[in-house]
Amino acid sequence: MKTRTVVLYELNKPLVIEELEIPKLKQGQVLVKIMYAGICRSQLNEIKGKKGVDKYLPHTLGHEAGAIVEEVGENVTKVNEGDHVVLSWIKDRETVNMVRTGTHSVRAEVHSGGIDAGGTKYRNKEGKIINAGGVTTFGKYSVVSENRVTKIDKRMPLDKSALLGCAIPTGGGIIIHQIKPTPGDSIAIIGAGGVGTSAILLSSVMGCSPIIVVDINEKKLDFAHELGATDMINAKEEDFVPKILELTNGKGVDYAVEAVGSKETIEKSFASVKWDGGLVVIGGNPPSEQKISIDPFDLKGKLITGSWGGLTVPHIDIPKYVNLYLSGKLKLDELITDRFRFDEINKAFELLDRGKIVGRAILEINKEA
Ligand SMILES: [Zn+2]
Repeated sequence: MKTRTVVLYELNKPLVIEELEIPKLKQGQVLVKIMYAGICRSQLNEIKGKKGVDKYLPHTLGHEAGAIVEEVGENVTKVNEGDHVVLSWIKDRETVNMVRTGTHSVRAEVHSGGIDAGGTKYRNKEGKIINAGGVTTFGKYSVVSENRVTKIDKRMPLDKSALLGCAIPTGGGIIIHQIKPTPGDSIAIIGAGGVGTSAILLSSVMGCSPIIVVDINEKKLDFAHELGATDMINAKEEDFVPKILELTNGKGVDYAVEAVGSKETIEKSFASVKWDGGLVVIGGNPPSEQKISIDPFDLKGKLITGSWGGLTVPHIDIPKYVNLYLSGKLKLDELITDRFRFDEINKAFELLDRGKIVGRAILEINKEA
């Protein structure tokens, strides 16, 4: 069986779509038909070599998608043929739930995260090996590891579900797992890109107020307002730290989500939170080897931490986001601002690189009839 898949052969070169031979499934692997994939800045960084030396070239790309299961490998238990699934770069893991079965008895209910089957090797027409990680999504079909697959309700539209693999869990997970706000808590979100916009959406679901959003792009600020931001600051026009202090009666916000990934914005986010218990979560991906500089005395009152996928547990969190969407609380329709055909992938990355994509871009790989 064959697939048409996007391959990165060389850094800083256009991506190539080519026919690849799909290998036989190994234990713990799942073959999926990719319907829609989200386009993320993380892949742009890969293409541009911002993640350092790339020893896996040539390789496939993409890490969030809405897909349909075609075939399952040996010992796969989480999904079956025909299931609708979200693919995510975030590894699922086992969870144990204690269930009361009587007055004096409890039973442990174990939910499998699925097998970590690792990557795959495809072959192109010339027989050259093309590497793929445990999940890649820019192809008509893809072989993925069971622990990167989460079954979802079939009522969930697959284009919106693509956003549940990276955009929503990273930014949203920061809010629901790391910040855990109560209604009325104030929050500042620095950077209204993929992580920032989903942090806005979940802050709004959780009832935060005010929701202050900082960006340098006026269009992104307007978009943030549409998604639920209450106050917008253009950091090109003014320093956002004094403005946030002014909006919070000189106190600073309860929480800040840094979603830019630069030394300067991390330091300024730290300056924007309140002294007594203010929390900064770094959700952006800073270029490695930069050092941030903060006054250690401030750590007596403030907290700063990073985030790895918003501490998401896919089999628990993704169905929660599906329910929030299906009940009208999570604005995913608004989040998708751009759609591209599969063969327009290079154009999509060019526009993303030039800052022309305001919300999330979706690649329509096997569009539904
Ligand atoms: Zn991503």
